[in-house]
Amino acid sequence: MDPSLIVGALMGAGIVGFLLLIRFKDLPQPAPVSPFRHLDERKASIYENLRDLQFEYRVDKLSDQDYQATKLELQKELARVLEETDRIKAQLGQPVTVASAPRSKPVPQTAPHTTHTCPTCGAGFDKALKFCGECGKPMEVSQ
Ligand SMILES: [Zn+2]
Repeated sequence: MDPSLIVGALMGAGIVGFLLLIRFKDLPQPAPVSPFRHLDERKASIYENLRDLQFEYRVDKLSDQDYQATKLELQKELARVLEETDRIKAQLGQPVTVASAPRSKPVPQTAPHTTHTCPTCGAGFDKALKFCGECGKPMEVSQ
């Protein structure tokens, strides 16, 4: 094979790759993809189908049986989409609530803000600390 052909082919591939790279860069909002987006789109299309179905039924294009059967199918599909949405929400929501709960718990607004007292120097803290923020000695979590 003529080496210049290979070079030409490589250059061609390189140019195509470069153009593709530019195209991908120019695509609007590639990074922030919501995990619910495809589900929202599916939900929207199901609602649209339901509307179409109702319209066709009203103008007598569908038999009652066909209407009920298709409606049931769409509703099942919708239930699946909602279930999937809930599942993703639970997956996303759980780590957030678990992480924030222990942090916000020791700050009850009604209680006095010295619920934990250092046994060494007597300094009061609103949070249970492993070490005293005043004297640096280990603090026992007294409850
Ligand atoms: Zn102390």
